[in-house]
Amino acid sequence: MRSLLPEARSLLPRTVDLRRRLHRNPERGNHLPLTRALVLGELESLPLDITEHETTSGLAAVLRGARPGPTILLRGDMDALPVLEDTGLPFASERTGFMHACGHDMHTAMLAGAARLLASRRDELAGSVLFMFQPGEEGFFGARHMLEEGLLDTAGERPSGAFAVHVSNLYPSGTVWFRAGPQMAATDEVAITIRGVGGHASAPHLAFDPVPVAAEIILAVETAVTRRINVFEPGVITFARIDAGTTHNVIPETAQLLGTVRALSETTRTELHAILRRVARNVAAAHGVEAEVEFGVGYPVTVNDPGYTGFVRSVATRTLGADSVGEPPWPSMGGEDFSYVLNEVPGTMAYLGTCPPGREPGRVPNNHSNRVVFDEDAMATGVALHAAVAMAHGDGGFGGGSDFQPG
Ligand SMILES: [Zn+2]
Ligand SMILES: [Zn+2]
Repeated sequence: MRSLLPEARSLLPRTVDLRRRLHRNPERGNHLPLTRALVLGELESLPLDITEHETTSGLAAVLRGARPGPTILLRGDMDALPVLEDTGLPFASERTGFMHACGHDMHTAMLAGAARLLASRRDELAGSVLFMFQPGEEGFFGARHMLEEGLLDTAGERPSGAFAVHVSNLYPSGTVWFRAGPQMAATDEVAITIRGVGGHASAPHLAFDPVPVAAEIILAVETAVTRRINVFEPGVITFARIDAGTTHNVIPETAQLLGTVRALSETTRTELHAILRRVARNVAAAHGVEAEVEFGVGYPVTVNDPGYTGFVRSVATRTLGADSVGEPPWPSMGGEDFSYVLNEVPGTMAYLGTCPPGREPGRVPNNHSNRVVFDEDAMATGVALHAAVAMAHGDGGFGGGSDFQPG
């Protein structure tokens, strides 16, 4: 296969232009009318069958190669965050209070670039490519909504592989990083309400004070996590918010704790939920009050299929060179709703390094920061990699199943 990198590089001005238009116009959630219009405009001249989703602003576009072959799904997310941008960039957000602070504008622009590149190679392409432009990744279950609307049947045949990238300033610009197995965590929320009896702060024995109970629950939960969870299947519980009381001399009736629950396996996830219920209720009971534990169930664990990840590694190494392909030493406890796709289709999610040249990776503002700046040059790598994985997939490079060995 001729290297796709020079061609992706020649498309870079166009990719950057789309990215900047998206960056100026960030939209949040599952309904992104402006974003969808920009993407449709960009795809207009390409030979794609486009399905506009109805329950969300999602778009599914299919490119059919000249030769028969399997279908691959490539994903780019399109939504922004409720962040007030403070980058000083000339193309900064023009919608106050919203910002593409997670780099999804780059994901969308790269996916459109890959569609253009693959369309130009249609004669060589075997099989079909399903481009998934999804809204609502940032907590709105956009991927799940698109799956429920029949995404996987769009091309006629279900995809036999899936691939996506996420930009990250933890890595040097233009490098890619991924690992087999769990890559990102399951992300649930927990709310614990402790109900006591309010009263005068000078006479706690006449009330049932929920505040020290809340404190004890926090410490007991942290201890239980270290005692009940296998250290090789990690989990994290962080209480990020405590609410109780109004002033110095009133014992409040209730106290509330809000936290996040992260796990890299369903076993740990289940155990963390059990710990929270058991510890909160029983610590509360020990002090004569009650605790109610509620969960907001979030995204599942993002698991890279080992076989598919070996395939992607061999393609990435051929396309970009071995020096540009790495394996993160650990998974991340962040979450991703591409996990819903990976639960249906074997595939891989990769980080694309975007740390600006001359800066130290990991020492610059990163995803979700109001000051994050991603290096746009890396998008050439991203476009080339999407296209290379799709072409190799079409050629049967991935045999399917988990025992594929990269050649
Ligand atoms: Zn994000
Ligand atoms: Zn993101």
